[in-house]
Order: sequence, then C-alpha cells, then structure tokens
Amino acid sequence: MLDKAGDAVNWQSVDNAHHLHPFTDHKALHEGRVRVITEGDGVFLKDSDGNRILDGMAGLWCVNAGYSRPELVQAAAAQMTKLPYYNTFFKTTNPPAAALAQRLAKLAPEGINHVFFACSGSEAVDTALRTARVYWQTLGKPEKKFVIGREYGYHGSTTLGASAGGMVDMHRQAGDMPNFVQVMPPYWYGYGGQMSPAEFGIYAAKQVEDKIKELGADNVAAFIGEPLQGSGGVIIPPETYWPEINRICKEHDILLIADEVICGFGRTGKMFGSDYFGIKPDMMTVAKGITSGYIPLSAVLMHDRVANVLINQTGEYYHGFTYSGHPVACAVALKNLDIIEGEGLVERSVVMGEVLRQKFHEVFDDHPLVGDVRGIGLIGGIELSADKRTRRFFEKNGRVGQMCRDFCINNGLIMRAVRDTMVFAPPLIISHEEIDLMVALAKKSFDQTYEKVKHEVAL
Ligand code: PMP
Repeated sequence: MLDKAGDAVNWQSVDNAHHLHPFTDHKALHEGRVRVITEGDGVFLKDSDGNRILDGMAGLWCVNAGYSRPELVQAAAAQMTKLPYYNTFFKTTNPPAAALAQRLAKLAPEGINHVFFACSGSEAVDTALRTARVYWQTLGKPEKKFVIGREYGYHGSTTLGASAGGMVDMHRQAGDMPNFVQVMPPYWYGYGGQMSPAEFGIYAAKQVEDKIKELGADNVAAFIGEPLQGSGGVIIPPETYWPEINRICKEHDILLIADEVICGFGRTGKMFGSDYFGIKPDMMTVAKGITSGYIPLSAVLMHDRVANVLINQTGEYYHGFTYSGHPVACAVALKNLDIIEGEGLVERSVVMGEVLRQKFHEVFDDHPLVGDVRGIGLIGGIELSADKRTRRFFEKNGRVGQMCRDFCINNGLIMRAVRDTMVFAPPLIISHEEIDLMVALAKKSFDQTYEKVKHEVAL
C-alpha cells in the first residue's frame, strides 16, 4: 500500500496514532501490535505480514457466503450506478428496499410480514425495543415498560442494547437504563448442576416467569433473547426451554423478541434460529448474515400483530435512520440471499456442521483440557475446563481462553474466546479440506495451551 508520497505506509503506527477500536483495551493494544488484515478469499484472510489465516469466526459471525464474492460486488456497483442513495422517509421507497422487505417476509416464520430497516444489529435491537414500548402505549398500556433479558445475553452496544443485554461490564459503562432486568441464561454446562439438560431448560424458563410475576405482567413490555446466545459463549438452550418461553410470553401477554443477529440466514442449519428452536416471535432482529457482512444492513421483522398497530393506530412513529432501506445495502442483501438459497447454504450448514462437530468430538472428547463440545449448524463452542468431570471452571475465567486464542491465531486460525469457551462460526461455504485444516490447527493450539496450564488441570 502506498501513501500520498508513494512510500509504503506503516499501518500499525498510523492506526496507533489515530484509530480507536471497538471493545478494546487501548493501552494494551498500543503496547502490543495491531494486526492489519488486507485481503479475504473464501474462508481465508491475509494480513500485512503475509500470513494466511483460516477465519473460523466468519468475521464477527457474519461472512456467511465467504469472502471475495464477485456477485455481491457487482450488485453493489450496479445499484450505486443507478441510485446510490435516497431515503425512505417522506413517502418514498426504492425497488431494492421494497423487494427485500417482501423477500424477508416470505422467508420469515408465519405471520411475520413487515420489515423495518436499519444499519446495525444494535440499531435493529433499539428499533424493536422502541417498537415494543410504542405498541403498548398505543394499546393503552404505557406502564408495560420492563424488558427482560438474560445474563450473558448480547444485544448490541447502543445504550438500549447494552441495557437489554447481560454483559455486566457494559452495564457499568453507561449501559444501565431503567426498566431492564436480566435472568439466568439456559446455560446447562455452567448452571445446570445435577439437573438433566431437559429439566434445566424448564428451570431456566421458569426464571423468566418468576421475574414477570415479581415485576407484574402489567409492567413488562417484552422478553428479548437470542435463539442461542452467541457472544455469551454459544450457549445452546436445552430443547425444553423455548417452548416454555413461548407459553410464558403468551400467557402473560409479553412481546417476544428473538434477536437473530447471529442466528439468522443459515447459521444454525435453518434459515432462522427461531425455525430451529420453534420460537414464536413477535419481532425478530436480523443483521450480519443478511449481507454476509459486505455492507452494513439490519432489520426488524415484525409480526402482523405488532405491525398492524403501527400501521393502523400509532399515528406517526417518530423513529428511523438516514440509511433505513439503503438501496445499495438492500441490493447486496438480495444478491446475498440469491447465493444462500441458490447454493443451498442453509442445508450445507447442517451437513458441514455435522462433519465439523464430529471431527471436534474425535479430537477433543478425551482431551484433558476440554469439558464440552457443542454446536448446531455451523456455530459452536468448546469449553476449556479445569476438571471435565465436575465441569469446574479455571480460576480467573477467561485467562486460559485468551491463551488458547493467541495460540490459534499464531497457528493461522481465528477462533474467539468467550471466557474459557472457544467459539467457532466459519463461513457456510467451508469445504471438507478446510474443515480438516481447521480441526488440525485447533488441536495443535489446544495442545499448546494444555502444556502451559496442565498443572491446573485435574486428571
Ligand atoms: N444482537 C446480537 C445477538 C449480536 O450478536 C450482535 C453483534 N454481535 C448485535 C445484536 C449487535 O450488532 P451490531 O454489532 O451490528 O450492532
């Protein structure tokens, strides 16, 4: 790369001087060395040192169709040439926005027929939460304000999203709006004790019902949950959990918001996580995989029950974004859906997910460092454990995970550490050979981690 004078630029020092990064300890970053990613191809990334890295995380769980898809580039270029931008505020629309809304309504579970566009997952969550409030206000129940989420839930980094999520560090830094509460997540490995997963699923759902009773159903607007909790460590609920949540929300007249930002568009082996778990949402938030991350776009998919109140009763809804229904983003999303459906990536996620998990089970079930291998479709987590029989965590949760993550990247594999769970969500186009490479690199990295911490591990 060249700067204006034609000299090679040291991107590390330029970045250090001026660029503030998301979710980063800046002091630690400045003391170390930022990695400069320069290219992507299929499931691989290249950095400025010439390293080729297998991206086992599809960016941030978003590059479902893989890197370097010329069709998406062409779709963006064609739309930019024709109409690069216009807003959708003043009784206007554009063909890609209308077409995408129609297509999403067709893909979504029954009864979900309306779409509100935004740019990021956080904005979609904000939109859903505001919509829940407006919905109840319009129906003459303005006191229904509380939103119930879960510990380790992640719903974005705007103030409402951070408040709805269950990340305590985010709450501490001004993500602590009133009327948000969290309950226990359906995290059997961490909280299930002696209960079977099925028993624990009912128990975890009951925490939601107890919270509703404690607050009074007349004060609760919505329950929000990711079908499976991604950023919280790929927490996959037992199958008894969501049917109970459906029942509880219905019985107590609480809106159910499924945050599908990670789960949407094939990640779980179904088009949406709600399809996989049988969730009956009133609203679904989607982002990430909607464009495979090529361009920012998100949406709230609304059930007729909610949308009809907005359409027929609310009056003006004082909410929206400059880029709501951005024609270029919508054109890319449409092409991306062509790829996902045309190449059968949802079905591929089932098949290749099974292959990947089986190989992980082969190498890790008896590994002294590993307490649990779990996943559905092409998303999963591997718990590092100090004692796999008792499911005991390491002291100072997160330390061993970070060590393992660093070994991974040095070996040419991106896996992310959430506390001490190593999570993975590769592009849905991953091949058999790439899965073999991914498993081999993970095994090498886990072995190196074990060598460093084996004195802490019970055998
Ligand atoms: N909801 C969920 C479930 C997410 O995983 C994320 C991002 N990881 C968000 C919301 C926020 O999305 P964004 O970063 O695009 O704002």
